[in-house]
Amino acid sequence: MEPTFGNPKNTIEIIQKYEFNFLKRFGQNFLIDTHVLDKIIRAANVTKDDVVLEIGPGIGTMTQYLAEAAGLVIAVEIDDRLIPILRETLKGYDNVVIIHDDILKVNIRELAERYHGGRPLKVAANLPYYITTPVIMGLLEKEMPVDNITVMIQKEVAERMQAEPGGKDYGALSLAVQYYAEPYIVANVPPNCFIPRPKVGSAVIRLTRYQEPPVSVRNPELMFRLIRASFQQRRKTLQNGLNNCADIPFSREEIAAAIERIGLPPTVRGETLTLAQFACLADILTGTEDIEDSLKK
Ligand code: SAM
Repeated sequence: MEPTFGNPKNTIEIIQKYEFNFLKRFGQNFLIDTHVLDKIIRAANVTKDDVVLEIGPGIGTMTQYLAEAAGLVIAVEIDDRLIPILRETLKGYDNVVIIHDDILKVNIRELAERYHGGRPLKVAANLPYYITTPVIMGLLEKEMPVDNITVMIQKEVAERMQAEPGGKDYGALSLAVQYYAEPYIVANVPPNCFIPRPKVGSAVIRLTRYQEPPVSVRNPELMFRLIRASFQQRRKTLQNGLNNCADIPFSREEIAAAIERIGLPPTVRGETLTLAQFACLADILTGTEDIEDSLKK
C-alpha cells in the first residue's frame, strides 16, 4: 500500500476535517516532505523482521512509511485528540499498535517482551524536541532492549551528540551518547519540511548502540560525574573545574596527580579530553593500576 501522507495537501485535509489545532507544549510539528520520510526509513534500516517503536506518531505520517517496511510498528502518542485521527489514517495497516500514553512513562522492556520476544526494538521518530534528552538518554542508559535509534531532533542537539573533542559543540551530551552508541547525522532538515514550521533547524540522527562501550571503565558513574563537573565550568582548567565541584570527592593533589599520570599538562581544559581519557582519569581516581590499555584506545 502507498502511504497517503507526507504531502501538505493530505495533511491539511485531515487536520481541517478533525479541526485539529497544534499544541506547542507537545512539540507538534508534522512532517510534510516525502523525501525526508524516505531518508529516515532508509537510515533506520527497517526490515520485516523488525518491531519499531515510534514516539509521537502525530497523524500517522511516518507510521505509514514504517508500517510498509517493518514487521510491526508500536506507535506511542500522548495527545488524545490524535488517537481517532490515527485510527482513521492507519486503518489499512494491520501491523500497527497504537498506544495512548506518555513515552516517558511507557515500560519499553515490557513492549519488547510482549511484541518481540524480548529482542531489541528499533526506534524511529520525529521527536517532540522538548523531551529529546530524557527520551534518548533513557533509551541508552537504562540498557533498554533497543539497538538502533533514528530520530529527527533539533540540529544543534544533533551536532552536540556527534561532536568531537575540542569543538564548541563538544560536551557532556556528546560523551554520554558516544559511550553507548555511534552517532551519525543522516540529513539536515529545514523548517519548511514541517507544518507548522519550527523556529529552529532540524536534523535526522541515527544512533547505533554498541554491544560493548568503546572504552572500559571500572566505575562509569564516577566517569560521568567527572565529565559533568568538567563541562559545568567550561572556561576553567580541568583541575580547577574538578576541584571546585562538590560532587567530586578527591583532593586537589589527587586530581593533579591523576591528570599528570595521563600525560596531560596541568592547564588542560576538560573540553579537549577524549572519552578514553575521561575513562582513564576515572580509573586512576578509582585506584586502578591497570590503565595502560585504556590509554591506548
Ligand atoms: N510523527 C509525526 C510527524 O512526523 O508528522 C509527529 C511529530 S511531532 C514533532 C511530535 C509528536 O509527539 C506529536 O504528535 C506529539 O503529540 C507527540 N508527543 C509529544 N510529547 C509526547 C510524549 N511525552 N509521549 C508521546 N508522544 C508525545
